[in-house]
Amino acid sequence: MTVQTAKPAALPAFIGGEKKNLIGGKWVPASSGETIPVINPATGGSLGSIAASGSTDVDAAVAAARAAFEGEWSSWTPDQRRKLILKIHDVLLENFDELAMIETLDMGAPLARTKPLSGWTSQVLQFFAGQVGAGTVAAPENSLPGDFLTLRYRPPVGVVGGIIPWNGPLIGLWWIFGPALATGCTAVLKPAEDASLSVLRIAELMTEAGVPDGVINVVTGYGKDAGHALAEHHGVDRIAFTGSVGTAQTIVRASAGNLKRLQLELGGKSPDIVFADADLDKAVPGAAMGVYTNSGQVCVAGTRIFVQRPIHEEFVARMTEFTKTIRVGNGLDPDTQLGPLISQRQLDRVLGYIDVGNKEAKLAAGGNRLGGDHADGFYVEPTVFAGATNDMTIAQEEIFGPVATVIPFDTMDEAITLANATPYGLAGGLWTENLGTAHKVSQAIQAGTVWVNCYGVLDPSIGFGGTKMSGYGWKGGREHVESYLYDKAVYLNLG
Ligand code: ADP
Repeated sequence: MTVQTAKPAALPAFIGGEKKNLIGGKWVPASSGETIPVINPATGGSLGSIAASGSTDVDAAVAAARAAFEGEWSSWTPDQRRKLILKIHDVLLENFDELAMIETLDMGAPLARTKPLSGWTSQVLQFFAGQVGAGTVAAPENSLPGDFLTLRYRPPVGVVGGIIPWNGPLIGLWWIFGPALATGCTAVLKPAEDASLSVLRIAELMTEAGVPDGVINVVTGYGKDAGHALAEHHGVDRIAFTGSVGTAQTIVRASAGNLKRLQLELGGKSPDIVFADADLDKAVPGAAMGVYTNSGQVCVAGTRIFVQRPIHEEFVARMTEFTKTIRVGNGLDPDTQLGPLISQRQLDRVLGYIDVGNKEAKLAAGGNRLGGDHADGFYVEPTVFAGATNDMTIAQEEIFGPVATVIPFDTMDEAITLANATPYGLAGGLWTENLGTAHKVSQAIQAGTVWVNCYGVLDPSIGFGGTKMSGYGWKGGREHVESYLYDKAVYLNLG
């Protein structure tokens, strides 16, 4: 592992000062006047503040979203909505260098990760633009006595509340704003208190691109205040949540008052299985980056690496070598591969798990916080534990840091049993040159996504989601857009 030091860079003008909420097309502070400091995780320095909103602010945002839903927005034609999404696409791409830098400063991911998200943003917005019209009317046959015309409609559900985490707001906001704009819903988004800046800047750019007042609203604040108020608000028809299982359980309870529709995408402890016939030149970096990407702060991270015993020793040696080549440091340096963790709280959590790992298994690489010039940032080395078993704490609990747990296995059946021995079911991977193994194991893994000889690729038109305690509902794909609509039948008696 080598350490990168950031070169000085001009910060975007957006950075610094007191950021406000976007409610009904206006930028307003929290009604309490309270704010939350924004910390740069790479340095511990200040990036200004965001509004610490509460239920009064959420009430105002939901009222604005409702008024927009029932107002002129409802008469926009599909063609108008499609053109609006494509205009947003163009405006965002023109400003993407700035957006990438805001994201890097706010949540730590390196520019090497945030800049290429322009390609993904382009793809996701074009996908949702192409989905406009999912509410098309059908006139199915009926078997009623008499002369009836029967119509099926799919109107938009109404006001959607989005609650997203801090590990990738530049990606996460589109899972709410994309389908909302495509279907004619309106949205209130509560980004994470640790990473709201890119969402606020995008909301500003979306307004400039012509999104009508109230169609999208952004309310920042703590989860227990603003998030909870949104989850229980009776003016919200649907909640889209990405985050931890415990928070999801609180949201499910809070949402029961008006029986909101829910889509939940939660954590994981995903298996990545390396068979003895795998091409290790691909499997070693592929499985390693399947854990380390975004400093391990990825819900689909393949953190349990099962390796077939004949190649276990060689795999651990090569993964250790590979891990040493990874460049960790300030994300503003274009050569940095892994940035800091999001916060002191997350650093403490990850270092706590590394302590547990040192007691449970054998440390093969990493295991330390970065010191020296990096001591004020929240950096931890990419870390490998070997000789582990699946029942260990480091193999069962989601760490959300760059920590891999390598577990040996003997047979395919054993690998499948171990892979599924987790409460989660978000993702999984396997590495093999055998087609039969690829098909059998990918079908047997209980997860919303399985990658074979790759890890973490995602096409928004295919989508993803989870099973078991990783949640329910699909993000991306046509089903996602359809989940922003409800079903309606109309019977016309023509007799
Ligand atoms: P983490 O602990 O990793 O931050 P969370 O699931 O708590 O993960 O956070 C994901 C999102 O959920 C954030 O936007 C956070 O503010 C929000 N959140 C946290 N607690 C609640 C809650 N009780 N109700 C609604 N939203 C919440």
